[in-house]
Amino acid sequence: MIKVFKSPAKYIQGPNILKTQLSEITRYGQAPLIVTDSFVWEMLGKEFCDDLLSEGLAPVLADFDGESSDEQIEKIREKNDPIDFVIALGGGKAIDTGKAVASGLKLAVVVIPTAASTDAPTSAISVTYDEEGFFKTYNYYDKNPDLVFVDTQILVKAPTRMLKSGIADGLATFIEVEAVAKASGKTLAGGAQTIAAYAIAKACEETLLKNARLAVVSNEAQAITPAFEAVVEANTLLSGLGFESGGLAAAHALQNSFSSLEGPIQRMTHGEKVAFTTLVQLILQNESEERVRSFIQLYQEFGLPTTLKELGITEMSDEALFVLCEKTITSQDTIQQMPMELTANDLFSAIKVTDAFVNGLNS
Ligand SMILES: [Zn+2]
Repeated sequence: MIKVFKSPAKYIQGPNILKTQLSEITRYGQAPLIVTDSFVWEMLGKEFCDDLLSEGLAPVLADFDGESSDEQIEKIREKNDPIDFVIALGGGKAIDTGKAVASGLKLAVVVIPTAASTDAPTSAISVTYDEEGFFKTYNYYDKNPDLVFVDTQILVKAPTRMLKSGIADGLATFIEVEAVAKASGKTLAGGAQTIAAYAIAKACEETLLKNARLAVVSNEAQAITPAFEAVVEANTLLSGLGFESGGLAAAHALQNSFSSLEGPIQRMTHGEKVAFTTLVQLILQNESEERVRSFIQLYQEFGLPTTLKELGITEMSDEALFVLCEKTITSQDTIQQMPMELTANDLFSAIKVTDAFVNGLNS
């Protein structure tokens, strides 16, 4: 299989860059379309827009309702305002929508995340959701964002829950990339892994294990430290490059299945669901108890879910859970990249044992 590595053209990270490095953004054109939700607009979008206006730009605000549905993306694309490039400012759904709109219009896209909560900003992939907000599908674009612009002064003020979620998403990366390596599997970049992607994923895990605790304290204190900068880079750049060109496996496939469930789990972030499903993958591949325990301990320190109950799955029968496992196993999702033959029963057992193991440790 051929090797493929993808990445954004440029990545810039640092405190206050939205003020000091504005020319990095304005070089993409005169009329940016800004995709942002009303909360981020009030918080910093308005001021950012004023800054663009004073630089002589003519920004256009997209009619974005906060959901990343096909209808929404189509609606924004069809509006005939003359625009030169797209700026996606905000969380996961604004970023996914901005990437999708830019790809359809064949325009450059600048991604400005307002939290280090997922590794979505750097990739040429976005997730679409159905009308009820459930995971629908991955969309693959021709190219990655032209610029990923990460202002750590904004991120350090974001809720700590977001950073912790990003850490969980980032910690899944090397575990899944390792599984794909063992399987000689295919990545989301559309080919085999490169040595580069594997090394980046490994650096992601090392960086997070070394810096995660201090970074969370920095976030709580709203004070930027080298540990905070390191974790922002790991959550955003290292995890993003790692998962796209290194591959996803069981943890993310199960996350996608869990996202279709109703009830309290709907209030969980992507990273929170990934924390639990990463443990399931570790059990599935018979990882050492020491390694499993070290992940459980870190997740618990951060209040990330490690049991079905904490994940918000409290009223699901074994029969319903088994059906979910069957759907996951027979899907075209990334569980197919695991290095061993898996049945619905294997997955069901791993979920039950993860839950029982943590409950046993807790009691
Ligand atoms: Zn993820």
